[in-house]
Amino acid sequence: MQCTVPTLNICTYTTYLILTLQITENSISSGNNVCAARIHKYGSRLVVDDISKPVISSAEVVVKVAATGLCHSDLHLIDGDWKKSLPLKLPKTSGHEIAGWVEETGVSVPKSSINKGDLVAVFGG
Ligand SMILES: [Zn+2]
Repeated sequence: MQCTVPTLNICTYTTYLILTLQITENSISSGNNVCAARIHKYGSRLVVDDISKPVISSAEVVVKVAATGLCHSDLHLIDGDWKKSLPLKLPKTSGHEIAGWVEETGVSVPKSSINKGDLVAVFGG
C-alpha cells in the first residue's frame, strides 16, 4: 500500500498549531495495514509510513482516525525537546488528540459503553 496524504490544512490558532489531515478512505487503510505519520528522527519532518494495524487487548478499541490535532506537546516530541526526560523508541507515532470512528472493540469492552461505528473524540493528558 502506498501511503499518501491528499489534503493537508495547517493553520495557527493562538499558541497551538492545528493540523488537519483529510485522508481518503483508500489512503488510510488497506487490509491489515494503516498509514501513520511517525517520528523517525528528532527535529525532522514526520514520515507517513505503511504499518500493520494494531493488535488490541481485550479492553482496548481501535479508532479509525478521521482528523487529528497537533498540539505543542507533539511539537516538543518531534523536535526532541524532551528526549532526555521522555525518550522515545523511534519510529514513534505522535498525536493524542483525534476524532474518528470505532473500528474494532476488544472482547471485554462493554457493549453498553462503546460499539463499532461509534463516533469518538480522544484526548490525552
Ligand atoms: Zn495535547
